[in-house]
Amino acid sequence: MSCHECAASGGAPRPATAVCSGCGAGTCPEHTHETVDVVRVSSVGNPVERRTRRLTCTACARAAAVRAGGVA
Ligand SMILES: [Zn+2]
Ligand SMILES: [Zn+2]
Repeated sequence: MSCHECAASGGAPRPATAVCSGCGAGTCPEHTHETVDVVRVSSVGNPVERRTRRLTCTACARAAAVRAGGVA
């Protein structure tokens, strides 16, 4: 699989090293955005926080920033 962002911008194709969790596009390291999600798992008397990783392409990272109230 090649990086979708590189292909979309007309650049040289690069091998994808990640798959966007939002749209499923393959992305190279340069176009992969990593965010850390904290998921609270509730169990009686002992809430546990788990850190998960989310890898997204540039487009989905931008969309997520807009949803979070940031400026794209
Ligand atoms: Zn790329
Ligand atoms: Zn995406």
